[in-house]
Amino acid sequence: MIPKILIVEDEEALGTLLRYNLEAEGYEVQLIAEGDEAETALHESVPDLLILDWMLPGLSGIELCRRLRARKQTKRLPIIMLTARGEESERIRGLSTGADDYVVKPFSVPELMARINAMLRRVNPELVSKNLKAGDIELDRETHRVNRAEREIHLGPKEFRLLEYLMHNPGRVYSREQLLNAVWGQDVYVDERTVDVHVGRLRRAINRGKAVDPIRTVRGAGYAFDDKFGKLN
Ligand code: CA
Repeated sequence: MIPKILIVEDEEALGTLLRYNLEAEGYEVQLIAEGDEAETALHESVPDLLILDWMLPGLSGIELCRRLRARKQTKRLPIIMLTARGEESERIRGLSTGADDYVVKPFSVPELMARINAMLRRVNPELVSKNLKAGDIELDRETHRVNRAEREIHLGPKEFRLLEYLMHNPGRVYSREQLLNAVWGQDVYVDERTVDVHVGRLRRAINRGKAVDPIRTVRGAGYAFDDKFGKLN
């Protein structure tokens, strides 16, 4: 089952960035820029999680959140509220409207993704699998442990996140830029070659001896987790 996420955000660039990253994580995403339109959409169908901007044209995020909490169908809908810096003093008000989590802009996309995954896991463990498995490689998203053929592999945080990101969507090729955004974040300036360095480290850590390399380098495109890998082992 693919989890559905609704993003209500009037800043077009941010909304698009979030949609792009969430789709890359394998979620089904709907993006709406206005509070009233979002309310109508939420009456029609309830997503698995809502990312809600605080300030919206028309019906505000705060008011929408309050209304959702008052309705039986959306009473328990997981809501992450986004807000601009300077609105932090309003934080208590935000929490009292019933949002489950609260993120201040500008935020790091990987950090938000981690929070979304954690929240979805908490409400419905079936939606987001705790473990990723392919062939003899097993990755535990909660404990951050990786095993290959029952042997524990120690990875740095960036290598772990790279492996997790590549593994969650086997066969899909990610460009260096996509990997940078997903692992390092949009606002961090890192050279694209950094990705190659970390993929190199990741490979050295997981491929001992004659072990088959699960990571494919796609010339001129980027990297992918080999979708045939599980079948080779
Ligand atoms: Ca806004």
